Amino acid sequence: MKVHIDLRSDTVTKPTPAMRKAMAEAEVGDDVYGEDPTVNALQEKIAQLLGKEASLFVPSGTMANQLAIKSHTQPGDEVIIEASSHPFNFEGGAGAALSGVQFHCLEGRRGILDASQIEEAIRPLDHHFPVTRLICLENTHNRGGGAIYPVEKIETISRLARDRGLLIHLDGARLWNASAATRIPLCEYAKWVDSVSVCLSKGLGAPIGSLVAGSKILIDRVHRFRKMFGGGMRQAGIIAAAGIYAIDHHIERLKEDHKNAKRLALGLNEIRGVSIHPENVETNIILFDISQTGMTASLLTEEMKKNGVLIHPIGKTQVRLVTHLDVTEEDIETALNLFKEVLHRK
Ligand SMILES: *Cc1c(COP(=O)(O)O)cnc(C)c1O
Repeated sequence: MKVHIDLRSDTVTKPTPAMRKAMAEAEVGDDVYGEDPTVNALQEKIAQLLGKEASLFVPSGTMANQLAIKSHTQPGDEVIIEASSHPFNFEGGAGAALSGVQFHCLEGRRGILDASQIEEAIRPLDHHFPVTRLICLENTHNRGGGAIYPVEKIETISRLARDRGLLIHLDGARLWNASAATRIPLCEYAKWVDSVSVCLSKGLGAPIGSLVAGSKILIDRVHRFRKMFGGGMRQAGIIAAAGIYAIDHHIERLKEDHKNAKRLALGLNEIRGVSIHPENVETNIILFDISQTGMTASLLTEEMKKNGVLIHPIGKTQVRLVTHLDVTEEDIETALNLFKEVLHRK
């Protein structure tokens, strides 16, 4: 059966014809020499959007996060992070392997931490303890179901960090979605943190690429480590052009993804046995549980796939859906009808 609706992730988007045209026409040079005008333009654009002095183009969100962690820490340092966060769970153990840091995990509410929790986790200055150095936040929070970090919470955490001499890295793979949903400019989120990573290849629909932004001094360190990690690219303007196109054309439309996600959540809520909190669907990610239906997430995934709809099981009875550029309003109705049919067939 031909797959026509892919709700597994917003990473599955394919470049549009107009984006491919921008890529084909991109002016390029050797970016390891700093001579690719398109990469330079993208880096300036992102630094400006985030209100930071500089930014650096890197191949993936994982590399962006790990370069930030590497640049902020020494081996043996402790990094305070949420237990279901991306850098702790889904980056292959890179924090330990590449930076030698120890993660101190705290349980958030839908991935969101309170300053008081963080304050309690900061180690006293004593030779027995690791040195607490960095706090990592994630906005929107992937496993938190696309939850938005309230900007006031980031501000409070930032004031705490400054008081205690700690740095903050924000994993902003989907910061675009937070900003689109709240209308709070990206720079208002970014101004409270020392570094921020953003992905072009999620909801924005570019095929490849992420950036790390921060002070000039920080980005110089990130640049050095990018070379060390093997992330220096040559005529990268071809892919940077897709990023520029995405920023110019695909930010506004993120609201449509959020509307589709809400519609999907409300529809799922009407299916007997589906446990979901539509009010928690703030952006483009939907989490739900089907334990009441007696069906497993893997069986549901298989049955949906037979009918051309791809979904992502994230637990025995939990499923994640993500809306994006290549999912239309009509696709949402098609998927909902299929969910109804499959969940009630058994
Ligand atoms: C996707 C994602 C990343 C980075 O993913 P890559 O696949 O390495 O580009 C980082 N953080 C979050 C929250 C993500 O969802």
